[in-house]
Amino acid sequence: MQTFRRIGILTSGGDAPGMNAVIRAIARKANKQGVEAVGIIGGYNGLINKKLIPLTTSAVSNIITRGGTMLYSDRCLEFKTEEGMQKAIETCKSNDIDAIVAIGGDGTFRGATDLAIRGIPTIGVTGTIDNDITATEYTVGFDTAMNTVVEVLDKLRDTCESHARCNVVEVMGRNCGQIALRAGIAAGAMAVAIPEIPFDEEATINRIKAAKRKAKRGMLIVVSEGVFATDENGNKVPYGEVLKKKIQEQTGIETKFARLAHIVRGGTPTLRDRLTASQMGVKAIDLILEGKSNLVVVEEDSKIESMDIVFALTADRMYKNKLMAGDLDKFSAEDIAKMEAICEKRRQEIANLYAIINDLAL
Ligand code: ADP
Repeated sequence: MQTFRRIGILTSGGDAPGMNAVIRAIARKANKQGVEAVGIIGGYNGLINKKLIPLTTSAVSNIITRGGTMLYSDRCLEFKTEEGMQKAIETCKSNDIDAIVAIGGDGTFRGATDLAIRGIPTIGVTGTIDNDITATEYTVGFDTAMNTVVEVLDKLRDTCESHARCNVVEVMGRNCGQIALRAGIAAGAMAVAIPEIPFDEEATINRIKAAKRKAKRGMLIVVSEGVFATDENGNKVPYGEVLKKKIQEQTGIETKFARLAHIVRGGTPTLRDRLTASQMGVKAIDLILEGKSNLVVVEEDSKIESMDIVFALTADRMYKNKLMAGDLDKFSAEDIAKMEAICEKRRQEIANLYAIINDLAL
């Protein structure tokens, strides 16, 4: 059985509240097991350029409550090249780093699997507000982001109500409508537009007109940033602003547009994010010490489990209709059926939530 001297921890891609809680859990659990933890500053860039700090038990004190990431994050193109990858491996070898835990989203996991296949045991832990990794029910940061959106929507509701206005609010989520959908339901939005389900613009405008006739004053519409319209020159433009104009023109209701943008990425992590971060961080160290590699820690049926990274990334591409030629060749029929079941479960979950918006709108 391999002995582990040092484990490197990095955060990469878009930051998410709760990443610090993952770092803390990994460092503390590793130290308890007699393994040193090393923080890699600035994602894969820090691994290439040997930017390392010791993560003793006390070095991760007082970070569980903090948003962002104490290890900072970066997007690193060099890491996608063989030369960059070899520099990263050299850093591990010359600094006695026997394994890496990479916290981030799907891009981060692609990097992790590249390291793993070159002989550096690597485990991925989710850290992305978008909850857009199909193979896991939950990603660290999602709950805090949704709660931030709800808090802002509640504030906008107050002022919409006072002035009998409509507010179209665009929220982050990349190509995934989960934040918009769940926060929209929780804030009592009249309609939600997400990339996964075609948006019925005409029905929404009719709904707004009908609500006005029923003397409804404040109205909220949530649009995920992954929804686009096409302008008169054929360019892709964010749908939220387009919808805002159409609502105002067609209903006569004063309509505002708000883009929450990165507000949604910051802030103190919620209990759910701190708890899941702690569970996933501990699981990552357990897996490494069991000699496992090339796995991502996921939540499946509300339990913390692990899954082969390549399986998880392939299931993700299957869900997003981005499978490439040969992607499924290395998987058994049983694996492919499991991926299809994961995709179907996700589609069903979104369809069920979307139906609630329509069931509850005035
Ligand atoms: P996220 O992890 O949030 O999805 P990105 O997609 O930006 O964020 O990926 C984060 C980083 O992971 C990239 O900047 C790059 O360093 C690394 N990465 C992404 N894709 C690959 C890849 N195909 N091979 C190696 N590294 C990758």
